[in-house]
Amino acid sequence: MKGGTSRTGCTDQGFECVRTKAKTYLPNPKVNSVSVQNERIVICSPHFDDAVLSCWSLLDREHASTVVNVFTGAPSSDFTYCYDQQNGALSSAIHMQQRAAEDRHALDVVGKFPINLGMLERQYRLRPSPWLHKLLRFAPLLRYALLRLPFLDSALHSIAPPDVVQLADAITRAVPDATSIWVPAGIGGHTDHMLVRQAGLVLAARGLKVCIYADMPYLLRFGWPRWLKVADRERPVDRASAYWAGYFDGLVKPENLIEQARVVHLTPAERLRKAEAIRRYATQFDPVNAGRVNSLLRREDALAYEVFWELESLNAKASKGR
Ligand SMILES: [Zn+2]
Repeated sequence: MKGGTSRTGCTDQGFECVRTKAKTYLPNPKVNSVSVQNERIVICSPHFDDAVLSCWSLLDREHASTVVNVFTGAPSSDFTYCYDQQNGALSSAIHMQQRAAEDRHALDVVGKFPINLGMLERQYRLRPSPWLHKLLRFAPLLRYALLRLPFLDSALHSIAPPDVVQLADAITRAVPDATSIWVPAGIGGHTDHMLVRQAGLVLAARGLKVCIYADMPYLLRFGWPRWLKVADRERPVDRASAYWAGYFDGLVKPENLIEQARVVHLTPAERLRKAEAIRRYATQFDPVNAGRVNSLLRREDALAYEVFWELESLNAKASKGR
């Protein structure tokens, strides 16, 4: 998560498309059945906190899990970029050092040490223009719109995003013995999350086992889907499920997304440890806990579940449905 205000990157067009097709389904989520024994699990975390936010159960339960943080590079100048300004930073370069230290402190809760790939996250690819960042900081709705207009890309950015094939190569080089790669679904539409997911698809095409995780806190835009709590009963696809499915690029129907989901229920003790780890991202704590979407530690059940999919089963289901 980065720039974690309540403004998630919803592609409304995709959401509407799925919602109008919503009918009913027979939910059969595989509760607590993520099969990861004897694997070297690599959790690809776009930003420092994403692995903790979305894959805590893997970190807490699986000894052989490793975190690869992707967008961890610091800008070369002393400029302060818009999201960092919002978080009270005076220099983005120094702020990134703090964030890296916070990440090590958070992962200490489960005795892990991350691998950082050093790529520049979205805000650091923007032009370091004081007026632009002032505008983006104080007009979040405008920022939401501007950053999603492709024809403004070259005007707003001075650095291109990494090529997804090179990103996939970098992940492979960082952890050559990985047996499974876990990438975000991209729920919320954050560019950096989508890039890591795309890299995951490249790795899957090379024969690696790839799993997808639901992105916290963006997934909570419409709360948890009802099927997480009510199994074995026919229920209509609800708004949250349709919202999630809208980010799977039409690859799968909401019914298949639900049927193939691996839902992990965190125990009370695991929730407490996860909350402690989240608090250790001190500079990011307020954005993560502000607004309608991001009130992670104030919502009673926000840390109750994590949701995963095996890409291969999603693809198999999708091709059967065609
Ligand atoms: Zn993120």
